[in-house]
Parts: sequence; C-alpha cells; structure tokens
Amino acid sequence: MKYEILKKQFGYDTFRPGQEEIIDAIMQGRDTIAIMPTGAGKSICYQIPALMLEGITLVISPLISLMKDQVRSLNQNGIRAAYLNSTLTPGQYRKALMLAAQGEYRIIYVAPERLESESFLRFVQQARIAMVAVDEAHCVSQWGQNFRPSYLKIREFMQKYSGQWRFCAFTATATKQVEEDMIGLLGMRSPYIVKTGYDRKNLFFSVEYPANSFLRLLELVRQRSGQSGIIYCIRRKDVEELCEKLCAAGIRATRYHAGLSDEERNANQEDFIFDRCPVMVATNAFGMGIDKPDVRYVIHYSMPSSLENYYQEAGRAGRDGQSAECILFYKAADERVLQFLLENQDFGDIGETQRKERIAKDWRRLEAMKGYALTQACLRHTILTYFGEDSPEQCGACSNCMHEYELIEISESVHTILGAIKSVRQKFGATIVLSLLKGSRSARIGQYGLDQSAFYGSLSGLTMRQLQDILRFMIQDGLVETTADTYLVLRITPKGSRFFAHPSSLTMRQYKKGKEPDAQDDEVFEQLRAVRLRLSRKYRVPP
Ligand code: ADP
Ligand code: ZN
Repeated sequence: MKYEILKKQFGYDTFRPGQEEIIDAIMQGRDTIAIMPTGAGKSICYQIPALMLEGITLVISPLISLMKDQVRSLNQNGIRAAYLNSTLTPGQYRKALMLAAQGEYRIIYVAPERLESESFLRFVQQARIAMVAVDEAHCVSQWGQNFRPSYLKIREFMQKYSGQWRFCAFTATATKQVEEDMIGLLGMRSPYIVKTGYDRKNLFFSVEYPANSFLRLLELVRQRSGQSGIIYCIRRKDVEELCEKLCAAGIRATRYHAGLSDEERNANQEDFIFDRCPVMVATNAFGMGIDKPDVRYVIHYSMPSSLENYYQEAGRAGRDGQSAECILFYKAADERVLQFLLENQDFGDIGETQRKERIAKDWRRLEAMKGYALTQACLRHTILTYFGEDSPEQCGACSNCMHEYELIEISESVHTILGAIKSVRQKFGATIVLSLLKGSRSARIGQYGLDQSAFYGSLSGLTMRQLQDILRFMIQDGLVETTADTYLVLRITPKGSRFFAHPSSLTMRQYKKGKEPDAQDDEVFEQLRAVRLRLSRKYRVPP
C-alpha cells in the first residue's frame, strides 16, 4: 500500500534512502526518530503512514509558514489536511476543530502552544487520533539551535495517552546531545532511530576568498543568469544594501529578513518561488520550510556562525537532486562581527556559569565553521566528519579537491609558534600570537610590550595566511588548543609540549604556488586601517 500511496498521491516512483525504513518502523508501532538532512524528504515519512492509518495524524511543527505550505501542497495532492495556529481567527479555529471532530481531515498541523489550550485538549479526547509526528524535533533541546520551550509540553501530552498513539519525531540536527534530548525530553520509549547519510552528492562545495566580495558576487550571479540562487548575509542591513546594489546592477533580486513587514516578506518569497525574481538575498530567517526544488546555487556572502547552520542553509540548493553549488565567501572581518554577536547574545534569565558555558559552546561551533572556511582538506569530508560520519578523504567534487597541493615541511615554524605561545605564558589568542611572530606594528602589540619579545618578527618571512594555516594545522593535530575563558586563548597540549622538547618532522599540504586563492592580505589591510583611523582623528572626518 505504501508504494501505491507514494505513486498515486505524491507522484514518486521510488523511496529515497531511509524513507521506507522509517515508514515501516512507524507502521509496526515503534516510537521512531528520523534524522535526515534538509531536503532528504522527511515529510512523506509521516504523511504516508498518516494515510495508511485509520484516524487523524497530528503534526507538531514550530513554523507557521511551514504549516501553510505543507497543507497547501497536501491539498493539491488531494489529501485532506488543515492547520491550527495563532493566525486563525477564533471563528476559523472553532470551525476547523468542528470539521476535524467530524473526521474531515487526515492530517492536522498544530503549533506546540496548542497542546496547552483547553478547547484543543477537549477535541483530542473526543477525536480519533492515530499518530503524533513531531517536526523539527531538535527544538526540544536547549543545546541545539531554535529551542522552543513549548516543545517540552509534548512529553506530558503524550504520556496521557501513552500506548494508544503512534509517535515519531523528525530533525536534521544530528549531534549526540540533541539526539539524547529528543529521546528523553519527548519521552520516547526505546525508539527506533533512523539516520540517513548526511552526504548530498549533487552539491558542489567551494570556498572563496574574494578581494572584492561584491564584484565577485556579481560575476558569479551573472554567470548563472536565469538560475535560481540564494545569497545569505548575517545582518539585515547587509541584506538591504546588497539587494539594492544587485538591483542597481540589473539583477532581478529580491530580499527577505525578519525586519520586513509580513506582506513584503510574503510577496518577495512568492516572487522568488515563482521565478519572477531568480535571486533571493536573505538572512537566515529565510528558507525554513520553503520547498523550492530548483535552487541551483547558494552563496554565503558572509560566513554563518556554525557548520550546522551552514549545512542547513547551503542544503537548500539542489533539492531536486540535480547538481547545484554551495559557495562560501570568507572574509576575516566577518569573524569579528560573528564574535561580537556571539558575546552579546541574549540568553534571557540564566545564571553566569550557564551563560559562560553556552558562549563557550558557540565559540567552538564558530571555530569549526572557521576551520571549514580555511581548511585545505576536502570540504565534503570536513563537513561529514563534523557530523560524525565516515567518508573518503577526497570527494573530487569540491574546490579543495580540485586544487593541486604540495607537501611542505613545517616542523621549524611549528616549534617557533609553540615557543611564542610559551613566551606569552599562554595568555593570548591567535591574533596576537601571530601578529607577534609576523612582527606586526599593531597597537595591541605595542600595548603589551610584545615588540620587545625575542619572538617579535621571527616568522616575518611567512604571510599571515600561511601562519594561520600552520596554526590551524597545529590545532587539528592536537598540538595546541583554544580555550574559551572570557576570550579565546591558545594553550599548548601535552602532545605539543612533547613536540617542543623533541621536535620531529611535520608536513602540511599547501596549495601549489600560483594556485593559492588571492587572499586579502590581512596584515597590510590592518596597517592601512590603523593609518586611516589616525588620519580621520587628525582631520576629524569619518574613517
Ligand atoms: P525535508 O523536510 O527532509 O527537508 P521534504 O520533505 O520537504 O524535505 O522533501 C524535499 C523534497 O524532496 C520535496 O520536494 C519532496 O517532494 C521531494 N521528495 C520527497 N520524497 C521523494 C521521493 N521519494 N522521490 C522524489 N522526491 C521526493
Ligand atoms: Zn572534496
């Protein structure tokens, strides 16, 4: 029967990886958790059982926009579905409940807050409920992104009816902590867990270090003219500026962020979905639940704050399975913006220790993101390793795999860097330590008297980028670690101490000469910036 439904109601010939296994587990009555990447096809894993079971399936979903779209497309497929959330007027809400009680719908989407509403609970007691499916189930965990307190009510709600209803949960977030929370906090009984691979073979990954981001973006967009693409920025004002500049350059672009009115957001979203505007410039507010299958490229104009976010956003490309590109721009300046946002997050009413813990966690996420942006290893392998999945060391389809490398001996430089970290008594972070070794004239070096150090300028023959690469290698190799106290500090590990005492050969892969992407020379830029600041103060004009 499931094959028939797949074909007749949804028009697909075969299941994708994981789907059939999930459907079978649900039908056998097991509590089921499905962890699948964005775009893998989670929805039909509960929609097909919903059509096979007698009674109503409740789908708990955090996103109102998602509910509307899901219901609309189910209705288009001839499946009776509805949603209950705060956008309905009291009249519409009563009517929907009444129709639901008469058995009018097979699938009803509800916001988690409904579980506390009297009228909804009365309805549930009378209706014939077959199954509860929790979408975006990671929202129950405080460790993941998008924590939603009302998800914590699901457990109690299910316990009242334990044993009677089928229970399944879906997410794209695969960390161990979130997985444990989903089982515990949702109160699932020895659930059957299905995890499909995270690899999306049709996506091509690349990282660029453009000297002029806007010109490079324009070039990329023009080369892909007529194709749908999403451009992600961190801040709303970046979205507005960029969209305006693109439009001025003759690109049909539209914009999306949480600060726009509902009407504008909806209109812009439709313009994008219906190809009136092929280019969408947006913050990460855009995308959840938007099922546009033919997005051919996703460009991150700025780096997001974690690889979780990156992979989710980039994964909106190529949902139709056709090849698509995920391009990340790396600029050192974005790092400072992200660090600022990270330090100044509003966690609400939590204690100081907890606050520190959360910030330290976010720091580690950001570090991993940065690691991806700057690694010379295979990008796909880097992502999959982060999500705990085994994969070949080379994928052959990412910008790093397409480059040629040479092996360089870095033993001496590593020894010098370790010496410098020791000499500052492990009190400083990467920026200061590398500026010291580079012999930078920045104000902070002077302020700490580091220009008097024996290490001052001792690696000035290397570029800042090479120094960063070597330090990153040292971190990945476990010679040093970064610890988040109030700010990030470099610390030598026992392995690093052993190496320092008895250095041995160490080789690192490096782009072959002439192949290195033209990175901005941060060092020169910083010096120019300092000069500009001095001049602007002198002449009392903005920098
Ligand atoms: P997710 O919720 O996992 O991000 P969706 O459920 O929105 O993904 O599905 C992503 C896309 O894949 C949708 O366009 C959906 O119609 C399509 N899809 C799902 N299952 C199949 C299948 N078996 N064959 C072909 N396309 C599918
Ligand atoms: Zn690769």
